[in-house]
Amino acid sequence: MKPITNDKIADMINVTDIKQYIYCPRIIYYTYVMPVEKKLSFKMEYGKEQHMELDRLEKRRKFVSYGFAEGKRIFHLTVASERLNLLGVIDMVIEAYNGHMKFYYPVEFKNTSGRIQLNHKYQLTAYAMLLEQWSDKPVGNGFIYIIPSKDIYSVAITQNMRDYVKRVIGAIYNIIKSESYPETRSMRCCHDCEYKNYCADLG
Ligand code: SF4
Repeated sequence: MKPITNDKIADMINVTDIKQYIYCPRIIYYTYVMPVEKKLSFKMEYGKEQHMELDRLEKRRKFVSYGFAEGKRIFHLTVASERLNLLGVIDMVIEAYNGHMKFYYPVEFKNTSGRIQLNHKYQLTAYAMLLEQWSDKPVGNGFIYIIPSKDIYSVAITQNMRDYVKRVIGAIYNIIKSESYPETRSMRCCHDCEYKNYCADLG
């Protein structure tokens, strides 16, 4: 694959923007159009520490937890696509064999006590799409690892999910280009949002 120039990479959005857009499109405005300072919450700081500890523990986990007899782990793999105008760092990639064929699977670690959210699934889908281009192999599913419970969920990457990710990428670039201030997706998300001090219309 042809290397991507630094100029092109600088113009790309990040996979985490897809997750944020699905949570609330205004976060894209606060990230790219009118950047504001965002304070890391305790939960986020704690999550970072847990991620580091997790890398260490993960090396001891048996691949059978993911449904493979054997495999290899690649941590924090940076992947980018000129076609999607998207880049990201995948928490972990599993390289495993199916018969004589080698396949790759993205794994996303989540520090959440609740169930898997829709935005987590689309974030994983975006990683799978980037991983396909990086590996030149189809990626049929990925995994979400829930840190507190140590549960692992396999997520099928469907065509509908891929199409939705492409539409979200387009919508994110529209906000950036038009510099328009988006409507909130749902006020129910505002309570936990680290940008709530900036949304004056919330009352
Ligand atoms: S506070 Fe509410 S409207 Fe503002 S960015 Fe967060 S979720 Fe969106």
